[in-house]
Amino acid sequence: MTTDDATLPGALASDPKLIQLRPKFRLQIGYVMAELEGQGFQPRIASAYRSAAEQLEKYKKGYSKSKKPGHHTFGLAADIIDRRVGWPDWDDKPAVELAAAFAHALRDACDLHDVACGGWWKQTNPGWARHDLGWDPFHTWDHKAPKSMRVEYGPEQWGSGLVEVGP
Ligand SMILES: [Zn+2]
Repeated sequence: MTTDDATLPGALASDPKLIQLRPKFRLQIGYVMAELEGQGFQPRIASAYRSAAEQLEKYKKGYSKSKKPGHHTFGLAADIIDRRVGWPDWDDKPAVELAAAFAHALRDACDLHDVACGGWWKQTNPGWARHDLGWDPFHTWDHKAPKSMRVEYGPEQWGSGLVEVGP
């Protein structure tokens, strides 16, 4: 199992959305996901690349606070969930508990691998605030990327076979 620039740990390179991330961030997220998997979680990238048009659409639907292209458009952000619960319904208590435990582990793993995490943002969502989490706890991004990388990183840039999964 290899990437174009380094080897990812564990079985994580099998996540189909990893390829949508820029190589350095992709590797960091691979390590973050390996860390979570080692703790018994089931991490999956729910959302990585988002075109400028899709970002605007998300804004209009109220799912995002920004209407401008952002880190998701630049290949510098990933929303990582536990595949068993995703974004849980607030009335499903066991699912919320698991999602919150996952979000804390994600935030810690991000700290470990120098990735920024929305779990550290303001606690403006009461559901997550109750669990001492910022309002967008599954959002991660590369806060160290230079400004020159804040340009579209879309399907034309992904190439093919960058992530090759072995047995
Ligand atoms: Zn996000």
